[in-house]
Amino acid sequence: MGDPLHDRQSVNVLANARQVIEIAGNIEGFPRVAESVENDLATLPAGARPGNWRAQPITGRVRFGHAPDGSGDPALEGEVLAQVPAVCQRCLEPFRYALDVPVAVQFGREANKALDAAVSPGYEYWELPDDRVRPVDIVDELIVMAMPLSARHANDEDCRAPEEAGAASDRTRPFADLRRQMENADKE
Ligand SMILES: [Zn+2]
Repeated sequence: MGDPLHDRQSVNVLANARQVIEIAGNIEGFPRVAESVENDLATLPAGARPGNWRAQPITGRVRFGHAPDGSGDPALEGEVLAQVPAVCQRCLEPFRYALDVPVAVQFGREANKALDAAVSPGYEYWELPDDRVRPVDIVDELIVMAMPLSARHANDEDCRAPEEAGAASDRTRPFADLRRQMENADKE
């Protein structure tokens, strides 16, 4: 028995078998995701980096079959969920966001097929150099492509953004009042 996520197999064999792959892994098992997260977290001071980020879960279910356009092209469908550690680009604090990656890929050998719009609606075209695929490579790349260029806290209450210092200005008000009093005192 093989490991359908990691074995390199004929995409047509997988499609004809309607191979289902359950994914219950973590970032460690997805090298491109790990590299991307590592580069992002490298912007933090060493002591501020979350220690166990490679253990964050990546789960989901994908299924091989055939594209709905009747072309007979093999396809992969499903959904993958990832917990992605990142640095918030507003407050520069580490945080973690949930990434929901819909999977809808149509495979083929022709380089220009995507340009001809000859792909099922809603599907991404995936050019294969040969008949074989390693499913983990596809999922790895789809997650990286779904990661936002500029991650940030979704919830303002969690974000210690500089702009929010404005909301705290009431707390500094007594000092402003004191300064005004001192200025007035100078004039007298
Ligand atoms: Zn933030």
